[in-house]
Amino acid sequence: MSDFNWCHGPECHTKETQSRVRGSGDNKVLRTIKIKQGRYNYNGRPELITYDDYFCGQHCLHDFIREHLTSIIAIAPRRQALETPIKIEKEKYESHRYQHNGTDYQRVPYQATRTTIKSVDNDNG
Ligand SMILES: [Zn+2]
Repeated sequence: MSDFNWCHGPECHTKETQSRVRGSGDNKVLRTIKIKQGRYNYNGRPELITYDDYFCGQHCLHDFIREHLTSIIAIAPRRQALETPIKIEKEKYESHRYQHNGTDYQRVPYQATRTTIKSVDNDNG
């Protein structure tokens, strides 16, 4: 197994950067970036495969997605909405706002409501 990939960005070899220049004399080219696998060694785990192993940067990643979006979606199409069971907790608390009284701002208390989304433990219903 090779320990590098060529960047999969469809336009990578057209971007004008010094890091892409190869060749000598009048035979120079812009070449696709060569990527060392595991180059970022995420959390000390170089075995983790990420898009960084296949794209030199986000621009090339997005070029690839744009060009192949229909095919990518076809791998795992979403035909229905997914749902996650939750509970909504509403909690009243004292807060304040600032009101302008013509010359100055004054602090005015009011009862506010904080809404929190809580996950539901599916084991206990
Ligand atoms: Zn690239």
